[in-house]
Amino acid sequence: MNNTNVDPAELSKFSDLAHRWWDPESEFRPLHHINPLRLEWIHQQANLTGKRVVDVGCGGGILAEAMASKGADVLGVDLATKSLKVAQLHALESGVQNVRYQEISAEALASEQAGQFDVVTCMEMLEHVPDPASVVQACAKLVKPGGWVFFSTLNRNPKSFLFAIVGAEYVLKLLPRGTHEYARFIKPSELSQWAREAGLNVQGFKGMEYNPLSRRYWLSQDTSVNYLVATRREA
Ligand code: SAH
Repeated sequence: MNNTNVDPAELSKFSDLAHRWWDPESEFRPLHHINPLRLEWIHQQANLTGKRVVDVGCGGGILAEAMASKGADVLGVDLATKSLKVAQLHALESGVQNVRYQEISAEALASEQAGQFDVVTCMEMLEHVPDPASVVQACAKLVKPGGWVFFSTLNRNPKSFLFAIVGAEYVLKLLPRGTHEYARFIKPSELSQWAREAGLNVQGFKGMEYNPLSRRYWLSQDTSVNYLVATRREA
């Protein structure tokens, strides 16, 4: 099993907060608020109903469970044990049946279950791993030919430093200090190149924006801070 592409300090940040994954006013509030937006964006393109989906870096299962509620058969994977336990318990509580969780790296799962999934999602995770290109490769290997792979992450430029770190962690305190490391942010051009190298064709980008006064999030064409990308494996 290849578990080298992991930063233990990153995992422990999430494990320490794991009991709060489903508290909508916790550190995970932003993920709860963007969840319906990204869910609809994914569903519009890939139609989740009846699909086999793997959510890579699923955390407490906020997206995984929502995709299962759309009728997908979802496997959530992460390397933070506590988060997976919370995800499992929450699925039991909410009675969502078609979601399972497993502690395994994207790379290891890809060698076990290559080409087994219609849809792969990997949200807000790439910026926490030492070798994000290797995760992109693994996601490309997991999806069937013609299937969809969706990523989201943070762009790297002065504005994203100001908004995602100074604004979100220090001024607005939406996220705990140290949640994100600027050097790990990823430019859309970099992510596009890794995707292409892995055999994934980029279908489109969306930006995710936030207004601190209205405390609302929405999708837009502005990818300068937080963004999503839809890709498809060649058929
Ligand atoms: N994708 C979820 C959670 C994002 S938080 C969502 O968008 O709602 C980032 C997640 O990545 C955490 O759950 C963390 O444990 C996980 N993570 C970090 N490094 C990882 C790795 N190397 N392999 C798998 N998961 C990882």
